[in-house]
Amino acid sequence: MTTNPTTTTVPGRRASYLADTRTGLPLPDAPTFRSAEDERRSRRQRLAASLRLFGKYGFGEGISGHISVRDPQHPDRFWVNPFGVSFNRVKVRDLICVDSTGTVVAGPYPVNPSAFVIHSKIHELRADAEAAAHAHTVHSRALGSLRRLLEPVDQESAAFYEDQVLYTDYEGPSITVEQGHDIATRLGGKRAILLAHHGLITVGGSIEEAAHWFFTFHSCAGVQLLAAPAGTPHVMSHDQAIAAKGGFGDVQLGRFSFELLYDEITHEQPDLLEE
Ligand SMILES: [Zn+2]
Repeated sequence: MTTNPTTTTVPGRRASYLADTRTGLPLPDAPTFRSAEDERRSRRQRLAASLRLFGKYGFGEGISGHISVRDPQHPDRFWVNPFGVSFNRVKVRDLICVDSTGTVVAGPYPVNPSAFVIHSKIHELRADAEAAAHAHTVHSRALGSLRRLLEPVDQESAAFYEDQVLYTDYEGPSITVEQGHDIATRLGGKRAILLAHHGLITVGGSIEEAAHWFFTFHSCAGVQLLAAPAGTPHVMSHDQAIAAKGGFGDVQLGRFSFELLYDEITHEQPDLLEE
């Protein structure tokens, strides 16, 4: 009898095909940088890539939608997309940096007032939120109109299990600091907030993570909207949802999953990296 070497284990030792991470996946650690300048460059590249991906996957809606990432050297400042530039056209050199007063301190464009009031308050009130993504996607608007959140009907949606908030206090377009403060306060420590009659916001400990959660929430909302009219979707038990969240909601997995999208969009649209 022969032994398959890939299944041979030594007592007390982990099988070689299992990585030493929480998910059991061979996920690399977050990158480290030699300087704030290097880290800023990486964040800006991933921000521009995220915006192009939002364009590619149809998240654009006129002037609406913004993604922000905190500056690594000045935590009270954040980088965000320029007002009036299509997701599909943004380049690294177009990105703007905004301070806590709403002043554009770097970059050649004005800031969308809505981007300032929402993102400045999230970055201010959530020290762990390095990035926030917001857009008016079709699925998030449909789910928001039903005033429903994601139910754990699959592994992906379990990433938001007990980690999402529904905001129903719509008061018009988000252009006041008070409304931005209210949204950020209601978000609390959660991963996502669905703004009824408006759109979706996701946050993360990195730009990669925030963008990945946004894509995941969007697709999960689509699944829920697709399944509901066809019958009665079966929802996971509490224990199943917690178990699924341990894998599909893992922050390291979220961050690394974005790298596949980054590779895709920078290969397809390399001009986005122009500085
Ligand atoms: Zn909006």
